Amino acid sequence: MDFNVPESPHIVAITNQKGGVGKTTTAINLAAALGQRGQKVLLIDLDPQGNASTGLGIDKQQREYTSYDLLAGSADLSRSTVPTSVPGVSLVPATEDLTSADMELSSSDGRLSLLRNALRDSADFDTVLLDCPPALGLLTLNAMVAADGVLVPLQAEFLALEGLSQLLQTVRQVRQTANPSLRIEGILLTMSDSRLNLSEQVEADARATLGELVFDTVIPRNIRVSESPSHGLPVLIYDPNSRGSTAYRALCDEYLARRAQAERMADA
Ligand code: ADP
Ligand code: MG
Repeated sequence: MDFNVPESPHIVAITNQKGGVGKTTTAINLAAALGQRGQKVLLIDLDPQGNASTGLGIDKQQREYTSYDLLAGSADLSRSTVPTSVPGVSLVPATEDLTSADMELSSSDGRLSLLRNALRDSADFDTVLLDCPPALGLLTLNAMVAADGVLVPLQAEFLALEGLSQLLQTVRQVRQTANPSLRIEGILLTMSDSRLNLSEQVEADARATLGELVFDTVIPRNIRVSESPSHGLPVLIYDPNSRGSTAYRALCDEYLARRAQAERMADA
């Protein structure tokens, strides 16, 4: 090992082309949990809706440079990164500008590697989380090309697995072209309701179909999780003792264990 080379961060794209499945919630709370474990974390908001930015308490006035600037090259990583009130967590915010990125950036050279190139300066961080929009377009492809792995939240509801094969097909295509080492970090069942047989059925189906890809940790539906974004805080800080917080801390530990195992296998 060459000790002069800075360790590069582990980059995770949190993605599912369905909206409302828990991507942003997972990005914010995994970031907060990693921060509590002592990591330096960068969350990049890649959704024009800017929910991750709002959920971390960064209002529109504070979004001078955004992930759009990062992709378009009009600001570098240090310029577009802002601190947050969450220990260890920095953010590249998003605004509606990003809506036009698909159109405006689609003719640029290396249009799928814009984010990967912008993240060359990210050695200060231990983990970079990419909060993807609900589409498999240019932004999500940039995230998959830049990432070491994808984490896929799946809402424990009817037809949860629908659309997953298209997502996994996209991962395969990215592997065959721009990013051969892209891993599936794991599939995360979210908003599970233990009172519903349906949630149990979805979980059983997911585990039967996808096996080890599914995280052992399941995120329960929890009112405190849904309240926290309007306070500009991760639930881990808004209500550390809630069931949602406990689950996201468990996810963090499971993610770190999987990551360590994958790194050991890569070294062997
Ligand atoms: P996505 O980013 O995939 O669109 P979000 O993370 O924004 O999904 O979640 C969609 C909605 O569901 C949000 O209002 C969020 O607060 C809520 N939500 C997410 N996870 C939970 C949970 N575990 N319990 C209750 N509400 C949740
Ligand atoms: Mg979102």
